[in-house]
Amino acid sequence: MLKKFLLLMALGISLGGCGKESQQKQIYNDLVNYYPGDKASKPNIKFASSLSSDGVNALSEDFEFLRRINMTPANSADLVAVMKINDSSPKSLVSWLDDRMQYVVPKDFDADKSAYLSSIFIPDSPMNDDSKTGTVMASNIGAAVYMSAAEQGRAAFVQIPGFGDVHVSSPRVGIIQEGDGLFTDMIGEGHLDDVPHILLRLSTFFHEARHSDGNGQSLCFTHSVCPSGHDYEGLYACDNNGNGPYRIEAELVKAFANTCSGCSPRTLELFKMMEADSFSRMLSKDNWNDSPQGSR
Ligand SMILES: [Zn+2]
Repeated sequence: MLKKFLLLMALGISLGGCGKESQQKQIYNDLVNYYPGDKASKPNIKFASSLSSDGVNALSEDFEFLRRINMTPANSADLVAVMKINDSSPKSLVSWLDDRMQYVVPKDFDADKSAYLSSIFIPDSPMNDDSKTGTVMASNIGAAVYMSAAEQGRAAFVQIPGFGDVHVSSPRVGIIQEGDGLFTDMIGEGHLDDVPHILLRLSTFFHEARHSDGNGQSLCFTHSVCPSGHDYEGLYACDNNGNGPYRIEAELVKAFANTCSGCSPRTLELFKMMEADSFSRMLSKDNWNDSPQGSR
C-alpha cells in the first residue's frame, strides 16, 4: 500500500548551483504560461484541521502548479491513455485526482485509532505491512481501511479532524496520509519548493490516487514484492501490472519532462531517473481492471 521512493542518491544527482532560485522561477514560468488565467480547475482536496498551516500552504502551491501546467497532446499521449482521460488539460488531470483523493491527513494521524468498522476499531491496519526499509512518501489509508472492512463485510469509518466520521464506502473516498518523505529533501540537494520536489509530491499523489481504483483481484492496485536482484528486492514496491500506481507516476513524470522546455539538463536528467525508477517497478504489462469498487 505504501509508496516507497528510495531515490537514487548514489548516482550523485545535484540540483544545486549558482543562480538556482532565479533558474527555478524561470522553469516555473516555462511550465505554467500555457494556462495563464485558467481558474476552472482548482482541486477540491480537503485538509484535515490537524495539518499544519505550512503543510496546507505548501500542498496548495503544489496543486496550483498542477492546474497551470501545460501538457500538449504530443507530450502526454501515454499518460492520457493509461489514465483514460480525454486530454491532459489541467482540468482533466485535476478531475482525475479529485475523483480519487478527497482528504489529506498529517504524518502523526493515528489511523489505527481513528478508523473503525461499525463500532470496532481496526487493531492492525494493513498499511503498515511493507515498511521494513525505505522512506514512505504517502499512503492511501482510505484504501487500506476499505480493504479491511470489505474482508469482514462491514462498514468502515475514519475520524478525520475537522470533518468528523467519514464513511469509507469505497476506496474512492480517498484519504491520503503524508509520509516522512513528502517534505524531506529526497533528491539530495535543492529546495523543497523547487520544480523537482513539486513534481515528486504531485506524482506521489497521483500514485496514491491509483490505489483508490480496482475491484476484486485488482482492488486498490496493491503492490507486489520486488523480485531478487531488483533495486527494491523483497519490498512491496513493485506492481504486477502495466496500469498501476507506478505506471501512472512514470507517465506523469515523463509528460512533465516533455513539457519542461525551460528545465536544465540536470533537472531533466533527474526526471529521467525518476521515470526509470518507476518503470523498473512494473513487473508485468498486463492491465488490471481499473473500475472502482463501491461508490462515494
Ligand atoms: Zn503505492
